[in-house]
Amino acid sequence: MTKLKYERPIIKRLENSMPNKFGMRTEFKPMTHIEGVAVKDIIDKYGSPVYVISESVIRKTYHNAQRAFNTRYPKVQFAWSYKTNYLSAVCNTFHQLGSWAEVVSGFEYDKALGNGVDGRNIIFNGPDKTRLDLIKAIENKSLIHIDHLDEYYMILDLAEELSLRPQVAIRVNMDTGIYPIWDRFGFNYENGQAWDVLNKIMISKKMDLIGLHAHIGTYMMTAAPYGIAAKKLADLAVGIKQKYDYYIKYIDLGGGFASKNTLKGAYLPAEDTNPSFDEYAEAITSSLLNSNIHPDHLPTLILETGRALIDDSAYLLGSVIANKRNSIGKRTTILDIGVNLLFTSFWYEHKITPAQSFSHHVEDTVLYGPLCMNIDVIRENISLPLLNTGDHVVIHRVGAYNMTQWMQFITLRPNVLMITESGDVEIIREQEQMSTISNLEKVPKHLSSFEL
Ligand SMILES: *Cc1c(COP(=O)(O)O)cnc(C)c1O
Repeated sequence: MTKLKYERPIIKRLENSMPNKFGMRTEFKPMTHIEGVAVKDIIDKYGSPVYVISESVIRKTYHNAQRAFNTRYPKVQFAWSYKTNYLSAVCNTFHQLGSWAEVVSGFEYDKALGNGVDGRNIIFNGPDKTRLDLIKAIENKSLIHIDHLDEYYMILDLAEELSLRPQVAIRVNMDTGIYPIWDRFGFNYENGQAWDVLNKIMISKKMDLIGLHAHIGTYMMTAAPYGIAAKKLADLAVGIKQKYDYYIKYIDLGGGFASKNTLKGAYLPAEDTNPSFDEYAEAITSSLLNSNIHPDHLPTLILETGRALIDDSAYLLGSVIANKRNSIGKRTTILDIGVNLLFTSFWYEHKITPAQSFSHHVEDTVLYGPLCMNIDVIRENISLPLLNTGDHVVIHRVGAYNMTQWMQFITLRPNVLMITESGDVEIIREQEQMSTISNLEKVPKHLSSFEL
């Protein structure tokens, strides 16, 4: 048996703060391994910090979502939201599972094509589609979700110029009982904007109206608003059939399902409160099945779920740089993981676990990142066992948005690894080098040298 680590005694200030309602005990066990691979070995080999994505967790989560919808509705299609995580290995995992691509810029569109997605399986969303983007999307028969009238008129113009029939849907925003309403994208349902553009499309006869789309919010903590959104889109589909004797092919309910990350200030952990895929699926599919859409013409149900499909699959591993006490004696621990790599720490209380065994001694701690910026706080208050310089930590549920919204700020971005289904560790994005940054820079001749 190895000798137990000595831990010096401390005097703890009694603070008049709210205890966790389950008492003061730390909930954590150390997380020494991820899918059988030792955290310490990963950091020794690939550096610290480092992101680790589990392929099998992605596949398991996807199968669970697919089962929830497929058991309730006859035709379901997922489309992977590129902006949530567009590392090619992640996108291709979803494409192998059958997901189409959902993109919101020319860059993301090209990335999906580059990954090998057929244009007909790319959904092009968002307010920013340039003329060149639209030409490409029309020629590739992609599904263009119109956001505003300026875009509609540009597509109409291009349809004539190219003599092609664009495949379009409209994005609809609406009151689903969640406020503030996300009304900046698409056409409003209640005030008639949606019908206005639908009539324009149908009467122009220059493009094919193939679907109706809504994306009502993100991290939606109840399922009921999806039922309302599905009902309103179904009502539009019924109206289009009545007025034009025409059936649309799909209804797309967007993304926005909550992951199991806990929001700051939440009373209970999200694992206990947020809806499951089954609850979201029940709200959406029962609305569609109970609508007046003819059962022989039920549209395909498309889902653009991002966050809830990827968050759980990724971890961020890091190390303790130092410990100190602040002006009132509170313990502060400095990690090598900052908000530049963990954008979501601005609104989540990420679960953080030591990666080695520890004693039962815990203390309220502030966790800072390494940046020379006051805002670089990973957790404002967390009850953690005492960590020593060089110890490792595992940050959980970092798969959504962190690997796209990360910042190259003060430090370079680290390696991103994938633990494959067969248990191999693969680099899926290499750590940045000085040259990654400096190769893009140009220094005007007169600034190329100086003397000090
Ligand atoms: C961001 C986005 C998604 C994915 O949203 P999540 O909240 O990550 O599920 C889907 N559709 C559209 C149009 C989006 O903008």
